[in-house]
Amino acid sequence: MSKLFLKPEPTLADYQQYIRDMIVERGFHNTIANEFMLLIEEVGEFSKAARKAAGGTLANNASEQDLAGEAADIFIVMLSLCNSLGIDLEQAFRTKEEQNKQRQWR
Ligand SMILES: [Mg+2]
Repeated sequence: MSKLFLKPEPTLADYQQYIRDMIVERGFHNTIANEFMLLIEEVGEFSKAARKAAGGTLANNASEQDLAGEAADIFIVMLSLCNSLGIDLEQAFRTKEEQNKQRQWR
């Protein structure tokens, strides 16, 4: 029985802590290189699901649930990578967006 719990209205830090706990509970031990390969794999699965959802036949049509699930997989692996690399993703997002607001976009 899983002891994992994500509180309602979690912050990104809460998600990152959840992933830390999940890695321990499930006994996952990936190297950073392996986590990057997993991320690429999940991006491929997301792309495949999107392609099928966009124009697949009935036989191979991916459901919206499949598509959303693959998006979640990317989020999970991304958070795990951030944990492994010591990145506070909320802080990184805030810092990066402050830089982006100063840029000229055309
Ligand atoms: Mg997947």
